Amino acid sequence: KEEHIRKPEWLKIKLNINESYTGLKKMMREKKLHTVCEEARCPNIHECWAVRKTATFMILGDTCTRACRFCAVKTGLPTELDLQEPERVADSVSDMGLKHVVITAVARDDLKDGGSEVFAETVRAIRRKNPFCTIEVLPSDMLGNENSLQTLMNARPNIMNHNIETVRRLSPRVRARATYDRTLEFLRRAKEMHEDIPTKSSLMIGLGETKEEIIETMDDLRANNVNIMTIGQYLQPTKKHLKVQKYYHPDEFAELREIAMSKGFSHCEAGPLVRSSYHADEQVNQAQVN
Ligand code: SF4
Ligand code: SF4
Repeated sequence: KEEHIRKPEWLKIKLNINESYTGLKKMMREKKLHTVCEEARCPNIHECWAVRKTATFMILGDTCTRACRFCAVKTGLPTELDLQEPERVADSVSDMGLKHVVITAVARDDLKDGGSEVFAETVRAIRRKNPFCTIEVLPSDMLGNENSLQTLMNARPNIMNHNIETVRRLSPRVRARATYDRTLEFLRRAKEMHEDIPTKSSLMIGLGETKEEIIETMDDLRANNVNIMTIGQYLQPTKKHLKVQKYYHPDEFAELREIAMSKGFSHCEAGPLVRSSYHADEQVNQAQVN
């Protein structure tokens, strides 16, 4: 029988499902919208939705053309493209009174533009209806298509976030289709297109990487002018997904954050429950573009 490492105390938190979301959740279903907050059963949902007024929407459907080994999103042939989705997302951002919104999407490798036109339109629709809400985008690599990236950058999100996910050595095992170098190239090109838009990337740890490899990833991101980094604990979504190799102690996260800051990131969030979109609202103003 295979050994499982036990979950440490600091990760045993109760999901704070309280009344106030019931209405919001109903609205999501009525509008046929998906949030990562709900689908990933994110432990930060109360803090984000109710206190910080931030949420992460997943657009372009709920079915991904890829199957990364850490991710719980359903895999398969996606449904057709929903051209009304941008307006519905923009309406929900208003209804929820959001101050910061993260828009992510499944990888639509079945579409020529990777879905970037609808993605860009979502950014524009949110801005039209919510001029004071800051917008962070978290797209797939859109197969490295430069036009797709340009389309999205031209919508001028407040933050361009694209996740490196894991260290170089583990990338082929952990990610499907996406590669370590293509991710770096995506981030570098995004910055070249609009220098004033901060770029951001997230790393999950606990998949068997070494500390040296984590530091190497920081250096690689900085070498490609990435401004913001987040580091969080990988948690296995189901038994079919990759096993957790290590639970990092909060002190280790604090140390990694220090190291990241010394490398010149303008902002770094690191902690057991840190997710790509965690405390994202704070990063908009703090990010100094360099
Ligand atoms: Fe949603 Fe991200 Fe907040 Fe989790 S951390 S509730 S996914 S916005
Ligand atoms: Fe999940 Fe994104 Fe990988 Fe699709 S591309 S399986 S949504 S991590």
